[in-house]
Amino acid sequence: MILILLGPPGAGKGTQAKRICERRGLAHLSTGDMLRAAAEAGSPLGLEAKKIMDRGDLCPDEVVIGIIRERIAQSDCRAGFLLDGFPRTTAQAEALDKMLAEIGRELDVVLELRVDENALIERLRSRIRETGGERADDNEETFRKRLEVYRAQTAPLIPYYEKSGKLRVIDGMAEIDAVTAEIEAVLNEVERAKKGG
Ligand code: AMP
Repeated sequence: MILILLGPPGAGKGTQAKRICERRGLAHLSTGDMLRAAAEAGSPLGLEAKKIMDRGDLCPDEVVIGIIRERIAQSDCRAGFLLDGFPRTTAQAEALDKMLAEIGRELDVVLELRVDENALIERLRSRIRETGGERADDNEETFRKRLEVYRAQTAPLIPYYEKSGKLRVIDGMAEIDAVTAEIEAVLNEVERAKKGG
């Protein structure tokens, strides 16, 4: 199974991605994790990416597309994979379609974690109050910038995938376990439909 997890920053994509991948034996492909690893390794590309990430902007399409192209060719992706944080622009979505066509594979489903932005900001504020803002991404200004970037550059993927009939909307405001359960139910349905032809 090949799936995309779509949603704004703070929607809980990472948490859900880990759970789904563990349960279903899928490779978890997070471009954010890969870029952070490159930044930590201190490569020129990683250092450049770090500057962009700290600003809340997106890294260049050709960089992330290249990373994903190499990654999906690896053997652990054969059984299926989940894309977490990719694609984030229409250019990336089109590149993904092409890449998958080239290797004769097909996207099964796009899960959109739909959340209320004001509630996300409130969640961030209470986390900062509770923890003193120890996490690197505990910064309201950067968070708002990332939300803005999501709205402008990533949200257009929702109609893009709606048109292809692959989009399924998940209520991301529910409790973490309830979100997982809803995702599992959708994936079971997708799998049944696939088996049934
Ligand atoms: P994430 O952990 O998915 O929230 O990503 C953290 C940061 O990495 C983002 O704010 C972007 O700066 C960068 N990034 C991750 N994935 C992509 C992508 N597909 N395209 C461009 N930039 C990305």
